[in-house]
Amino acid sequence: MIPTLTLNDGSRIPQLGFGTFLVPPDQTERIVSEALAVGYRHIDTAQAYRNERGVGVAVTASGIAREDLYLTSKVWNSRHKRDDVLRSFDVTLSKLGVDRLDLFLIHWPVPMLYDGDFVTTWKAMLELVDQGALTSAGVSNFEPAHLDRIVAETGRAPVVNQIEAHPYFPNAVARAASHGHGTVVEAWGPLGQGSILGDPAIAVVAEEVGRTSAQAILRWHIQRGDIIFPKSMRRDRMQENFEIFDFQLSPEQMAAIDALDHGPDGRVGADPNTFAVA
Ligand code: NAD
Repeated sequence: MIPTLTLNDGSRIPQLGFGTFLVPPDQTERIVSEALAVGYRHIDTAQAYRNERGVGVAVTASGIAREDLYLTSKVWNSRHKRDDVLRSFDVTLSKLGVDRLDLFLIHWPVPMLYDGDFVTTWKAMLELVDQGALTSAGVSNFEPAHLDRIVAETGRAPVVNQIEAHPYFPNAVARAASHGHGTVVEAWGPLGQGSILGDPAIAVVAEEVGRTSAQAILRWHIQRGDIIFPKSMRRDRMQENFEIFDFQLSPEQMAAIDALDHGPDGRVGADPNTFAVA
């Protein structure tokens, strides 16, 4: 049974989902269908991944009731103006084959574009919530100053901040800032996009609990209280990543993984303060 977390707007989200970054569009239907068959009910996609349509076909074909699924997408950096947010949201709904989305995120703040104005974008996300076709609005890759600004200017905090976080880059500062606004953290790249799996300290913990390194890392995230959606194109690994709720890490094992923090050098992705691809 996958636990759910309650967000600051009262809605609930499964703590484990399935990620689709770099899942090729022509394979997405098959891969997401496999993830749904394994038991995943929370799917994370994005306009930029170009695979929303495949996610939608898999979701429709599954026959799973809409209320039993949790779907997230993200507005891309080239669509931050109000009308582009609203228009592209409708395209996202149509590609996903649904008339309501659970969660829509601003993918990156891109503070170097749009004269530094991401508040307009946030207001457009809130408009979508107020109109009713979007249940929850969130952000991704927001640094503390970005969060402070949207909350100060609208009085409304995002339900989640989806940020890079894993043992080599736990992202403590952005995590703490998110929690300070009542915003739950979604940890993207929970396995460091695969880079952490060979770490000897992780192997020790994995051996102690009789699990794989991937399971030990994913369990560490769950016990920190973050939401995760590891990605794998292999069904055996989808299954492995799903089986993380029948064991626990001790405080010492949590601390051993906490100790792997490499600081800013541990990042596998871009720095949100300077990322400006649109
Ligand atoms: P991840 O940390 O989930 O790692 C994925 C890679 O790890 C896979 O390609 C696979 O090679 C390997 N892997 C997965 N399970 C494994 C297992 N059990 N054993 C061995 N190897 C395994 O990286 P990710 O896909 O980048 O992140 C997860 C999701 O987060 C994405 O799919 C996407 O939905 C989201 N994401 C969001 C952003 C953002 O900017 N908001 C950026 C990157 C990813």
